[in-house]
Amino acid sequence: MTELSPELTQRILDAVAAGFEDQIAFTTTLGRFPSLRGQEHTAQDFLHDQLQARGYAMDRWAIDVDDIKHHPGFSPVTIDYSNAINVVGTLRPRAETGRSLILNGHVDVVPTGPVDMWTTPPFEPHRDGDWLYGRGIADMKAGIAANIFAVDALARLGYRPAATLYQQSVVEEECTGNGALACLQRGYRADAAIIPEPEDDMLVRANTGVLWFRVRVQGAPVHVREAGTGANAIEAAYELIRGLRELEAAWNARKGDHRYFEDLDHPINFNVGKIAGGDWASSVPAWCEFDCRIAIYPGISAQDAAREIEDHLRRVSDRIPFLANNPPQVIYNGFYAEGYVLEEGTQAEATLARAHMSSYAEPLQSFVTPGYLDGRVFVIYADTPCLVYGPYSQAIHGFDERVKLSSVQRVTGTIALFIAEWCGLEEI
Ligand code: ZN
Repeated sequence: MTELSPELTQRILDAVAAGFEDQIAFTTTLGRFPSLRGQEHTAQDFLHDQLQARGYAMDRWAIDVDDIKHHPGFSPVTIDYSNAINVVGTLRPRAETGRSLILNGHVDVVPTGPVDMWTTPPFEPHRDGDWLYGRGIADMKAGIAANIFAVDALARLGYRPAATLYQQSVVEEECTGNGALACLQRGYRADAAIIPEPEDDMLVRANTGVLWFRVRVQGAPVHVREAGTGANAIEAAYELIRGLRELEAAWNARKGDHRYFEDLDHPINFNVGKIAGGDWASSVPAWCEFDCRIAIYPGISAQDAAREIEDHLRRVSDRIPFLANNPPQVIYNGFYAEGYVLEEGTQAEATLARAHMSSYAEPLQSFVTPGYLDGRVFVIYADTPCLVYGPYSQAIHGFDERVKLSSVQRVTGTIALFIAEWCGLEEI
């Protein structure tokens, strides 16, 4: 494809600006759907209808675990998927002359935490100056809206992409990555993909994989007056958590072996996110379970990391008399996903860099992020350059999550320009 003329570039950016108030209203409406895990279907119905009204050919389905469970990118599932609905809209040209593109976003959001810690209710998005607040607004409903309104801006000028363009709204990004994987398994492929996650106006060069696991610790229940003869599962859990911190330190010490990660302070983050145990204040607890998340470097398989976690927990258990004979059980209950590196020098990245320069008047920067991204599905399992690139945000996964609207507008401009150059344009 040829590079866009300065005149067409400006017309596209003006069209994005002209639609931006509508785009904010759309993002606000989407933010009102409390699309927590297992409850995404109403938001998905809204997106389905919105895309259909714009002329996309629609596909909507519940993820079937049997379809994806043998895929190497599959993560274990602990919930019922009958409400785990993916939505894909397809826009086809009259003549396929350009390169095809997937615009992907996830509609699932993480829990709000105590709602009284929010300044305003998390599912009643509100605007304050250049910021739009709400759970999932930055991560990543603003990105889904940017994908849709980038194409709308071209339509307002009388253009449609001259190659097949897919709008994917997926679930399960915050816990397994099985939503994006199910789209791939269903046959959706393209010459490039864009995911406008909140990445502070930058391109993700590499990211970590993530593992979720639950550690189940047994104890021996006795009355507290004879506690010396029992084994306290909660205190044993503390020892295991301390042990996992040692593993985290060991993995961080290996960062020099992993290109792009050597300059990060602390690429591997371990988190204990949930804990439960015991039944009674006067009984030595017979059980304790805690849920963990840990990152892994790209190139390390989930299986190898899992083996190392289990070996390490066994060594820690050997130091604790009761656990030595009753080792903890490790259950994988979510992310079981590798990280990825976006190879430098692709045409997709060059196209994004030009589009970004036109929209921001600044060169595109890339960075490395120590968290999970669905980009791995495209890069590792479909050999597709995936550009994870999106707006400036604050407090994602925290209280008062917010996205910067001027940044969202520029990202939308970048995506519209990318489509125009990558796919080419035909008159509607
Ligand atoms: Zn996200």
